[in-house]
Amino acid sequence: MNLLMFWQILHGRKIGESNIGILRMDVTVTFLGAASEVTGSKYLLQIGDFRLLVDCGLFQGRKKLRELNWSVFSVEPSSINAVLITHAHLDHTGYLPRLFRNGFEGPVYCTTATADLMKLILLDSAKIQVEEADYAKKKGYSKHEDPQPLYTPEDVLKIEENVTSTLFDTQVKITPNISVRFRNAGHILGAAIAELTIKGDQQEKKIVFSGDLGRQNDPILFPPHIIEEADVLFVESTYGDKKITTTDREDVIYIMNETFKKGGNIVMPAFSIGRTQTLLMYLKNVLMSGEIPRIIIAVDSPMAITATAFYRKYQDYHKLRGLDLDEDESFMTLRKLLTVARTSEESRRINEIKHNAIILAASGMMTGGRVLHHLANRLPDPKNAVIICGYQSEGSRGRRLLDGEKSVRIHGSDVPVRARVYNVKGLSAHADRGELLHWLNGFRRPPMQTFIVHGEPVSSQALADTLVEKGWNVTVPEYLQTFALFKQI
Ligand SMILES: [Zn+2]
Repeated sequence: MNLLMFWQILHGRKIGESNIGILRMDVTVTFLGAASEVTGSKYLLQIGDFRLLVDCGLFQGRKKLRELNWSVFSVEPSSINAVLITHAHLDHTGYLPRLFRNGFEGPVYCTTATADLMKLILLDSAKIQVEEADYAKKKGYSKHEDPQPLYTPEDVLKIEENVTSTLFDTQVKITPNISVRFRNAGHILGAAIAELTIKGDQQEKKIVFSGDLGRQNDPILFPPHIIEEADVLFVESTYGDKKITTTDREDVIYIMNETFKKGGNIVMPAFSIGRTQTLLMYLKNVLMSGEIPRIIIAVDSPMAITATAFYRKYQDYHKLRGLDLDEDESFMTLRKLLTVARTSEESRRINEIKHNAIILAASGMMTGGRVLHHLANRLPDPKNAVIICGYQSEGSRGRRLLDGEKSVRIHGSDVPVRARVYNVKGLSAHADRGELLHWLNGFRRPPMQTFIVHGEPVSSQALADTLVEKGWNVTVPEYLQTFALFKQI
């Protein structure tokens, strides 16, 4: 090999340089999660000999799925060169500390707001896992003799120095040949669509990952950035088959008033980041308009409180202005009614509230976190109500409640479900079918190949069918499938 070739291998070459064939590369993708299901987002791109993992999410919901978090990872973590994160939610980031623990040492690319939120979410997740392992050990309900957490806060802290965070709309080089630009996805603060550019020997290719897409008219966030071009597209399909109506407002007010008339309480499980802030805005509005009585709002999530501070830090990324964030009179009214629980002692005190309270706590899918204690406490009483607003993955406690199960298992005990359970989709953070199609219509021509991901089979297939009718080349991949994207570019 001559010196020039060696230099070219090291630094990559510019497009248009004469082809000597040594840098031509294949690009493949392997689906390591969120394929024909919603959680565990992980897509491994093999770009020549560079391995890029897009999202690194935790599997949540069904036991069989959760067990995947514990099984040997299908790719040796140390062989992965870099990770790219679309947004901070646990089903997109929650496996990252485990990846580091098992030998990954590369950089992690994400937006600045995602970097802040991710640290918060992962530390919380690690804390919950340590607490749950200890609790299971104490109560003896785990089948393992010595239940272990998947990772600890120490594992999370190790990630920080590897994070390269960037603003929206700026091009960042991952290697001389691979770069990424994050665009607003409107799903939670900092959530991004990732536009990946790969410069091959003679061609340039663009791969787009939609990440989770938000709503067109979210009360807090801006609608997703329209992308006009992609060679390969990965698009989410959480609500690929569903239209979400916005007429839920009256229903929620009705449910609340009925519950308070009977002297009951309401539990609203919510992701601490995104949903909790939206719900507080919503509650502020219905309280100010007098549509519900003055009640106690208990936010049982230290993380939600810290996350609200990030809305102040990243003011350009959302529609809230200073007024909404802290100084406005209506917000002060809301604040007077707010009970915020940071410590577990404060959390337990919420149990003493007899009636007229709305309790907001995570996790949104009721897979863990403080909301479980509130459910165990409130579900047996028919006067109470549970309002579920977020997406509930198959097999999660939330989905089982929605399916009308008469009892749910929490911390090793069967808890009877006598409280009423309501589903309010209008407050979701995910684009519905119409909004997904609106975003997809933004492409000037169909991508060469489109993968429908992050959806249960029915919703992914429904979106796929519609796109096929429009002449798109569409695949609904399955877990662990590998596809060739480009040959010898
Ligand atoms: Zn999400």
